[in-house]
Amino acid sequence: MSVGGPLPRRIVLAAALALTAGCSREPARPAPPPERPALLLVTLDTTRADALAPEEKTGATPAFAALAARGLRFAQAYATAPTTLPSHASMLSGLYPAGHGVHENGRRLPDHVPLVTERLRELGYATAAFVSGYPLESPFGLARGFDLYDDEIGDGRVERSARETTDRALAWLARAETRPRFLWVHYYDPHEPYAPPEPFRSRFPHDPYLGEIAAMDQELGRLVAAFEAAAGGRGAGIVVAADHGEGRGDHGEMLHGNLLYQGVMRVPLVVAGAGVETGTRGDPVSLRQVRATLLGLAGDPADGTLLASGGAPVLGEAMQPYLNYRWQPQVMGVAGRQKLIRSGRLELYDVFADPAEAHDLAGTVPPDRALARAVAEYPLPGASPATSAPPAGEEERRRLASLGYLVSGEAPGAVPEGAPRAAEMTPLFADLDAAAHAFARGDYARAAGRFERVLARDGGNLMAAVQLAACRSLLGQEGEALAVFARARRIDPRSVEVRHYLGLHHLKYGQVERAGPLLEAVLESQPDRLAAIEGLAQVRAREGRLGEAAALLERAVPLSGDPGTRLVEAGLLRMRLGETGPALAALERARTLHRESFRRHLELGVLLLAAGRLEEARDALDRVPSGHPDAPMALFKRAQVSVLLGEPDRSERVRAARAGADDTTRRLIAGERLFEGVAH
Ligand SMILES: [Zn+2]
Repeated sequence: MSVGGPLPRRIVLAAALALTAGCSREPARPAPPPERPALLLVTLDTTRADALAPEEKTGATPAFAALAARGLRFAQAYATAPTTLPSHASMLSGLYPAGHGVHENGRRLPDHVPLVTERLRELGYATAAFVSGYPLESPFGLARGFDLYDDEIGDGRVERSARETTDRALAWLARAETRPRFLWVHYYDPHEPYAPPEPFRSRFPHDPYLGEIAAMDQELGRLVAAFEAAAGGRGAGIVVAADHGEGRGDHGEMLHGNLLYQGVMRVPLVVAGAGVETGTRGDPVSLRQVRATLLGLAGDPADGTLLASGGAPVLGEAMQPYLNYRWQPQVMGVAGRQKLIRSGRLELYDVFADPAEAHDLAGTVPPDRALARAVAEYPLPGASPATSAPPAGEEERRRLASLGYLVSGEAPGAVPEGAPRAAEMTPLFADLDAAAHAFARGDYARAAGRFERVLARDGGNLMAAVQLAACRSLLGQEGEALAVFARARRIDPRSVEVRHYLGLHHLKYGQVERAGPLLEAVLESQPDRLAAIEGLAQVRAREGRLGEAAALLERAVPLSGDPGTRLVEAGLLRMRLGETGPALAALERARTLHRESFRRHLELGVLLLAAGRLEEARDALDRVPSGHPDAPMALFKRAQVSVLLGEPDRSERVRAARAGADDTTRRLIAGERLFEGVAH
C-alpha cells in the first residue's frame, strides 16, 4: 500500500526582525548584544577521512586542503554512528544515539532533545539549513530552531547536488541580515550511486566516488568564500565534517551502516576561524562535540568543545543490523591508540600501528580500563522507551528503501541467543542492499529472490523473512506468503512488523476478519503507522462500520503524503452515512489541496445542494465534464439547482437532463416534483 505525492514541506520562515523607526533623541539604549561571529557547519555525507586532503594525495580536494591548512584538523575524529540521521542528530544535540534515541534513518528525533540551533537562535543568530538528502528532511526532526530549513529536494527525488544546494545557500547569504548567521549546509553527493558531473566524471573515470568528492569539494570552496564574504569583518567560525565514511570494501563492507571499522567511522573534521589554532590533532574526538564547539565559537562556552583536549573514550554504535536483522548489537570505543569493538565478542585494535584493523589484539593485549568500561556500559536500544525514537511513516520508509535503507520500526526485547556477528555476515550485504533497492522499485520477484538467498544463509533474519513474505503476497502467491509469515512469527512472536504485513496480506486477500485484529494490534504500539490506519479503515468499511472507517481516514490525513485523497475517501464515507456537514467539510478541504486535479465535483455539488448553498452547487456541478460517467447525475442535479435558483434556462436544463439520462436518473427525473410544469 503506497501513497503518492511529496511530503508536505515544513519550511519554517520566521518573522522578519521587527525594526522600529529610529528615534535619534532616545536617551538610554539597551547595551548592544555581544558581537558574535558568523558560524558555518558543513557536513559531507559518506566521505571517508582518506578521501580528502591531506590524506588524499592526488589534489582532488583543494578547497578542503585550504581549510585544513588554515584550521585545526582532527586526524582521529569519529562518527557516533555510520548512518546519516543518527550521526547528524549527534552533531546537533551533543548526544550519542543512546542519548538522543535515533539509531537508524527513518526515525524521528524526539522533540525533547535540545538542539544547538535552538540555543544559537536564543543567542541572536539568524539560522538556516540547506540539506541535500532525503534522510535529513524535516519530518525526521532536525529542523527545530532553524528559521529556514530548506529540504526542497524535488518531487520524487532523494537527493540534490552540491551545486543546487550551494546556489540556494548563497541566495540566503545574499539577503540583508543584521544578525550573525548560523548556516548548516549538508552535501549528499558521495552517497551511492556514484555519478559525478562533468568535468569530474572524465577526471576520475576509474573512481567515480572520488569524482563525487571532488565535485562536492568545488562547491565547498564556493560556499566558504561566499560565507566569509557575507560575514564581513565580523569573523567566522567554520566546522566541516563528514557524517560517516564509506566501506569501499574494507572488511567486506562496500557501503556503510552495518559495521564499525575505520573506513566508515573515522571521518574528516576541521575547525577554522578566529582564535582557532592551526595544525593537526591526533587524539580521538567525537562528532558529538560539534555542538559544544559551535557554542564555544559563539561565545557561549559549553563542556566538551573540540578546542579543549579531551579525556574520556570516544564511543560509537551500529545498531541497524541488530534492529533489522536481529544480529549482534555493535558498540565501539576509542581511547588513545586503542579501539575496542563489542559485537558478540570483543575486538581490540591498535589504530596507529594497524589502521586497517587487520590484527585483532583481544586476548593478547588488555584494553584500557576506562575504555572497556565505557564500551560495556553503553546502553542498547530498546532497553528503555527513551532510547528508541518513534518510527517514521510508510512513505518515509519507501523513500528510504530507495536509498538502500530498510527500517524495522521496532527494537528487539533482548539480544537473540546465538545471534550472528555482523562482521561475519558480510557476504549477505550485497543481497540485502540489492533486495532493498528492488523492493523500493516494486520489483518484488527480484527482491524475493535476494531475500530467499539471505534466509538460506541466515535463517533468523527477521527483516528478510517479513519482506520476503510481503513480496510473495504482493506477487499473488498467497500460500507461499503465509508460509513465510509463519516463519517470521517463529523468529519473533511479538514482532509488530510481522503483524503489520500479515494484516495487509489478509486484507489484500479479502480476509477482513483476520486483518482487523492484526492491524489493531499494530496501531496499539505504533499509532501513527499510516498503512495500518488505512488498512484498518478498509477493514471497517467492508464490515459496514463506515463511521469508524471515516474516523480512521481522517486520522490518516495529517500523516499521509496525499492528504487530499484521504479527505475525499473520508468525505464519501460521511456522505454515505448521511452526515452532510462533515462530508462537505472534508471534500472542500480536499478541493483546496487538489486544486485542478480535484475530481469529486458531483459529490461536492450534491452536498452543497443539500446544504442549501445553491450558487456553489451550480459551480461545482458545472465542473463535471460532459463525457464523465457521472455526467447523467450531474445533469439531473444541475437541473434541480437551476429550478431552485429560478434560472431563465431551467427548462433547457431539465430537457438536457432527460436527454442525457441513464437508467438511474431517468427514474429520478420521472419522480422529481420540482420538474413538474417546467418542461416536457
Ligand atoms: Zn550519511
